[in-house]
Amino acid sequence: MPLSPFNIPQAHHLIGGKWTPATDTLDVTDPSTGAHLTTIGRGTADDIDAAVTAAQTARDGVWGGLTALDRGRLLTRLSDAVLNHIDALASIEARDVGKPLSQARADAIALARYLEFYGGAADKITGETIPYMDGYTVYTLHEPHGVTGHIIPWNYPMQIIGRSVGAALAMGNACVLKPAEDACLTALAFAQIATDAGLPAGALNVVTGFGAEAGAALAAHPGLQHISFTGSVRTGEAIQAAAASNVIPVTLELGGKSPQLVFDDADIDAALPVLVNAGIQNAGQTCSASSRILVQRGVYEVVRDKMANAYNDLQVGPALEDLNIGPLISAKQKQIVDGFLAQGADLTIAAQAPIPTDTGGHYVSPTLFDNVPPDHTLAQDEVFGPVQVLIPFEDEAEAVRIANGTDYGLVASVWTRDGARQMRLARALRAGQVFINNYGAGGGVELPFGGVGKSGHGREKGFEALYGFSTLKTVAAHHG
Ligand code: ADP
Repeated sequence: MPLSPFNIPQAHHLIGGKWTPATDTLDVTDPSTGAHLTTIGRGTADDIDAAVTAAQTARDGVWGGLTALDRGRLLTRLSDAVLNHIDALASIEARDVGKPLSQARADAIALARYLEFYGGAADKITGETIPYMDGYTVYTLHEPHGVTGHIIPWNYPMQIIGRSVGAALAMGNACVLKPAEDACLTALAFAQIATDAGLPAGALNVVTGFGAEAGAALAAHPGLQHISFTGSVRTGEAIQAAAASNVIPVTLELGGKSPQLVFDDADIDAALPVLVNAGIQNAGQTCSASSRILVQRGVYEVVRDKMANAYNDLQVGPALEDLNIGPLISAKQKQIVDGFLAQGADLTIAAQAPIPTDTGGHYVSPTLFDNVPPDHTLAQDEVFGPVQVLIPFEDEAEAVRIANGTDYGLVASVWTRDGARQMRLARALRAGQVFINNYGAGGGVELPFGGVGKSGHGREKGFEALYGFSTLKTVAAHHG
């Protein structure tokens, strides 16, 4: 598949503003059909080394010399350029990762919005003056780390590029991006858009390839001053260990087992579409997917039956048909999710939507499990597929105990009309984001995002990300 309308040669990395041929290649297939799409580069440690060197050169040269205002204007221009290519980006993403077209489109729009937000924010990060002893003036400066590494997953490539690379560039860092081997095409297209829009050479470098090769080489590279990673807990641990060996800061956004708590007094009809969509969007391949639905006994049956009806109406099919749910990213991911479904053999299924057959695509049936014990594997482990479990609870204390009873803490939501309970639970729930009578709040780029526990640490999105992508210098001048 040519990356139309982007003139990107097959199997190249973007290093120092130039498309550099890869020494080895990887095949890219369409998850909706299994058909071959294109080839990408299989990056090596040498490619990563060249990309880090190019990023350092950019920091020491044109890119590093820009003012915050100029960086902001450039990002705003980049945002406009992305908006001019929304349809092309959406169709590339749909074919590359199997995401239904309108969801892919939303990701492209979000990428533009991140660049707009961080473009506007670039010259609004200010330090402070600190009252100190007589004869001193003390102030702080937020300075870029320098060269930042960005290892991203395959589920939301465009959004994660926006929040991670967008914020890092806004603060003046030069970036090396290693997209996931299953989802490189929009990263490459974005690199071309950025180059055409005038981003100085080396400010953004993209090396594609396997995690164990290009990814590991990037994480361990001594030329990095910060690394941000979104992906699995297991890989996050490896990234943090690699970062530790160079003593550099790391932002980790890992998995989740995020609950929605539905109390007897909730507006069930308002909650219903959100309860389901938060679990099945992007075929459940979302770090912040709501995979646990905790329901108070008084409304348990009503919620279960309404959710089951909604499941029965779900349509699953090829990304380009733009139905509710597409395929999973890969045969490997389907095998993982099928394995989890098999572990639910002892459970009751409340509803299961049908999937297309004989397509060659990696489809799994969206499945809602009924009355699941909180300690069951399916209520504890991240499935990363269109699977939700219903868990009944008696009272607020039990709801909090169950909600907080996993290794994760990314997102949680509470559905209740009781204002005091809303405030109590906002504090009691162990999560980086708590939503009251909604889930995700539309995913706003302004909202700091990240987890606690095995969901990771550090915050992306919002202004907070800009502090994460910079380091604080204190200046104390003695003038008598
Ligand atoms: P998954 O198992 O779902 O592919 P990962 O967390 O392994 O999720 O992948 C997220 C990103 O991390 C991808 O870009 C992948 O290539 C990269 N990656 C995987 N393993 C490593 C590793 N050992 N070191 C650095 N990056 C890695």
